[in-house]
Amino acid sequence: MSIANASGRGRVVLCRQCDQLMILPARAPGESAHCHRCHHHVAAAAQRDVQITLSWAIAAALMLGLVFCFDFLSFSTRGIGHTMSFIDAARSLLGYDYPSLAALLLATTVGLPGLYLAALIYLCAGARPDRRLPGAIALARLLRPLEPWLMSDVFIVGVLVALIKIVSLADIQIGPSFVAFCIYSLLLIRTFSLVDWVTLWDAIAPHPVLASDFGRALDFHRSGRSQQLMVCHACDTPFAINPAHRCPRCGKRHLAHGVDRTQLTWALLATAVILYIPANVYPILSTVTLGESEPQTIIGGVVHLAAAGSWPIALVIFVASVVVPISKIIALAWLCVAARRGRQRNALERTRLYRVTEKIGRWSMIDVFVVAILGSLVQAGALMAIHPGPAALSFAAVVVITMIAALTFDTRLLWQNADEPRKALDHA
Ligand SMILES: [Zn+2]
Ligand SMILES: [Zn+2]
Repeated sequence: MSIANASGRGRVVLCRQCDQLMILPARAPGESAHCHRCHHHVAAAAQRDVQITLSWAIAAALMLGLVFCFDFLSFSTRGIGHTMSFIDAARSLLGYDYPSLAALLLATTVGLPGLYLAALIYLCAGARPDRRLPGAIALARLLRPLEPWLMSDVFIVGVLVALIKIVSLADIQIGPSFVAFCIYSLLLIRTFSLVDWVTLWDAIAPHPVLASDFGRALDFHRSGRSQQLMVCHACDTPFAINPAHRCPRCGKRHLAHGVDRTQLTWALLATAVILYIPANVYPILSTVTLGESEPQTIIGGVVHLAAAGSWPIALVIFVASVVVPISKIIALAWLCVAARRGRQRNALERTRLYRVTEKIGRWSMIDVFVVAILGSLVQAGALMAIHPGPAALSFAAVVVITMIAALTFDTRLLWQNADEPRKALDHA
């Protein structure tokens, strides 16, 4: 429902995607708030009790522990079998001399999610407005930037694609560890959806910003920048620009207003384009059957799957490895041009395009995970083996660099001279 405008009572918030100044009224449990101008979620659904988030996070962490206790997958062909644990996927990449891929696999599937869950449990269990929890501010600042890099759900899709690729060649058995991993991933997604950062930050470091705190009248029909205000990207606190550009609540330092990072986005996009060439020229994996090696590029793998009749899987790999990276690079380049021209028509559509681009980029990692699983699982000596190829490294770098490029883009550039809005917030 449409609610209070600028004159309403509540805390002052500044939209981090379009720089619109607004009033956020008290939310009822389950009620979220989004910016009326760009529809960015300014506040997630308010939680009735932080203990609910805590219990889901603990369940996810326990399930993550079980992933390391059992077998992950088993493979056998013509009497020769092999069983792998979860850690074997990273270990085999190390064995093939790809330590950076092994580190990326472990970090995105269990390392960073484990860190995220442990920190969230600590904050939810210990943070109280009336006492200072040691290290809480530093941990809370760290958590939100981690969220795009938690890819357990992408890994599950990668495992399923890998299994479908080899199911006709060998007998595959799913181990208890894989089941635990799937449950852990679902619990992790549920935990994300429950975290209410506004309330959590209020427990860690209470700092409600009211319009009267600024010592001057605020104009809620103008952007924050035009009133010398900026928003903290860690704790969402709006503050008057100070010489160090430091958030008064969490201490995070920010770039000065007006610093244009579009050149950095362009540089990262150019790097991604260059790396995408070896990612397609070199083989992403090689299948060795009875001593004969058959290298396969990304496109070659798609064609092979389509020829074998696995159209849905061929389509998944084609979309994740070709359509998504290329369209992401083109979309970000177009947004950089639009931001530079300063045209403000269709700013909402462009912001939506940015959000889609930012959200889908991580799914390109599917093919890298497929290679990691196949390289670790398919080990039947001279009879049959699959080795990762050099393109896996280039392609993983393309995915990581385009994700960073998306994070460096500042959507507020799309709204620089936009018509000033008339309403403040919508409740959803
Ligand atoms: Zn906005
Ligand atoms: Zn802050």
